Amino acid sequence: MKKEYRIESDPYIFAHGELCEGEAGKTGGWRSYRPVIDHSRCTPSKNQKPSCFLCWLYCPEGVVSRTIPVVINYDYCKGCGICAEECPTRAIEMVDESAFRRQEDGRENQETLSAANTPR
Ligand code: SF4
Ligand code: SF4
Repeated sequence: MKKEYRIESDPYIFAHGELCEGEAGKTGGWRSYRPVIDHSRCTPSKNQKPSCFLCWLYCPEGVVSRTIPVVINYDYCKGCGICAEECPTRAIEMVDESAFRRQEDGRENQETLSAANTPR
């Protein structure tokens, strides 16, 4: 189960982006590169302790969770790559988004085909 860590009482956090849906709606579609976390290199996952979370701190969109494991909300992540730059263990890789889009399109086409071939 995912465990969330609250920061209200942290005196060292002065500014932090919060996720909010603006006029543009879900902005994940703007992304050219997707940040992918290798949890075997991510400190909180490795140690099973709430630590690091620099990706959460620096994400300007507030789309990274402060949880174990760390989760990125791809509906809103714009793919700026700041999290990957800031990660001290190089656990985040920026991967070409088109590979994921092709996968998703393939899945959708498969589902459409299956639905069309299902006898009524
Ligand atoms: S900055 Fe890197 S090591 Fe730290 S929590 Fe994020 S992904 Fe994990
Ligand atoms: S790529 Fe940018 S917007 Fe996406 S999670 Fe990383 S820092 Fe946030």
